[in-house]
Amino acid sequence: MTILIAVFGLFHPQLLTVRPATASPVRVVEPAAKELRATAELRTGMKIEGDFVLAVPGKIERRFQGRLDVRQGKGELIAVLEADLERAVAAVVAAEMPASFAEEARKAQAIVARSWYIASRGRHGDFDFCDTTHCQVFKEPATAAYPPLAIRYRGEAFAPLYSASCGGETKTEADTGMNPDAYPYFRVACAEHAEAWERRFHGDDAAAIQRQPHSERVRLALGRALGWDALPSNNYIVAVQSDEIVVKGKGRGHGLGLCQQGADAMARQGAMAARIIEHFYPNTRISGMR
Ligand SMILES: [Zn+2]
Ligand SMILES: [Zn+2]
Repeated sequence: MTILIAVFGLFHPQLLTVRPATASPVRVVEPAAKELRATAELRTGMKIEGDFVLAVPGKIERRFQGRLDVRQGKGELIAVLEADLERAVAAVVAAEMPASFAEEARKAQAIVARSWYIASRGRHGDFDFCDTTHCQVFKEPATAAYPPLAIRYRGEAFAPLYSASCGGETKTEADTGMNPDAYPYFRVACAEHAEAWERRFHGDDAAAIQRQPHSERVRLALGRALGWDALPSNNYIVAVQSDEIVVKGKGRGHGLGLCQQGADAMARQGAMAARIIEHFYPNTRISGMR
């Protein structure tokens, strides 16, 4: 199975270049079959394939493998990579989990990432996914092979949510005001050693937190206005102190589903990937892909 991932959208590319990543040339499929052995500019309508380094000159470059086609967006080029699903899964695991994390935690992350991709195809209309946290972070190619398993709830694939660190207990949709999909998330205890944090807010920001504590919508709004780390997680208590509030919390991210830190902690205590998945997504089944 292949998926279409638009890469570098964050950089609003006006110019894209490509060069071979290895001694093998990059093949141009359209407009006319030929081989590129040096850096070349990509134009709208071009399709290439191979193992290559794509660049927005002066901003970013990254190695990719697969087919890439260049489309015209509104005032920018859109680079759409047709990636092999298993390579994309490996890339997500590499981007989402440090190499120091235990292997069974990385396997659990692979099952979650694959399930998310399978259940969320077509998210962007003209292509399936972007390469940012809006979809799943996708960076360097990775080749690690993980068992081809996916999570199902009542027999259906769903897009499992996960976060960096739940702070000791995961959250539900009701806790955070999120409404992600068909799967009802549970609060489960987590064995991680969560990082504690403290933030102070006043005025409208403080009012928003007090009105809807633990709301993911409020957390994201504060992140947009004040910086992504404004309110690190939804696991916190609020204390009023004269004209401001003090928010003391633990963890990072929305807190629903698999907790990456907790998965690592479980794996270090001997849990296998399937056990980790069962723990964070109660009432689901893991099965092969069909
Ligand atoms: Zn996206
Ligand atoms: Zn946790």
